[in-house]
Amino acid sequence: MQRLHAKIRDIPDFPKPGIIFKDVTPLVKDPAALRLSVHQLLHPFLGREITAIAGMEARGFIFGSLVAWELGLPFVPLRKPGKLPYDVQSVSYDLEYGSAMLEIHIDSLDSGDRVLLIDDLLATGGTAKASCELIEKLGAKVEAIAFVIELDALGGRDKLHGYEVHSLLHY
Ligand code: AMP
Repeated sequence: MQRLHAKIRDIPDFPKPGIIFKDVTPLVKDPAALRLSVHQLLHPFLGREITAIAGMEARGFIFGSLVAWELGLPFVPLRKPGKLPYDVQSVSYDLEYGSAMLEIHIDSLDSGDRVLLIDDLLATGGTAKASCELIEKLGAKVEAIAFVIELDALGGRDKLHGYEVHSLLHY
C-alpha cells in the first residue's frame, strides 16, 4: 500500500480554498501502480456473486471499467445530468453548498443485478449514497462499494451505514 500512497498527489486549495484535492493522476500514469490498485480493489470480491460494476463520473470510470474488464463483467456509468443519451433515472443530492444530480440509463441494470460500486474517493459520502439510490431505483442490489481513497475525518462511511464499504488508502 505504501507504493500506492506514494502515487497520490495532494493539491492544496483545489478546486477551492481549504480543500486538499487528492490527485490520482500520478497513480494512473504508472502502469504497475494502476494494476496493483485495480487488483486490490477487486480482491475482496473474487468468488462473490457480483453481476455488474458501476462507476461514478469521472474517476470512477477509470477504476470501475478496469475492475469490470478484469472480472469480465458489464460496466455501468453513473453520470452528471444531461450526459447520457438514452432514457434515464435521476437522483439529486445535497452538497456543502447547493445540490448535484446523477443519472443512470434505465436499461443498464435490472432487478437480478448485484452491483459493485466503484469510485476514486470517499469524502462525505453524498455521491456514493446517491449512486446507491440510483442503482436501487432500477431494482438492483448494491453488493458493496469500493474506493481507492477514504478521507476518514469526513464521515462518509457513517453516511453509507448498512452498505459494505472497502477502501484501499485512508487519510
Ligand atoms: P463526497 O460525495 O463528498 O463523498 O465526494 C466524493 C466525490 O467527490 C468523489 O467522486 C471524488 O472524486 C470527489 N472528491 C471529493 N473530495 C475530494 C478530494 N479531496 N480530492 C479528490 N476528489 C474529491
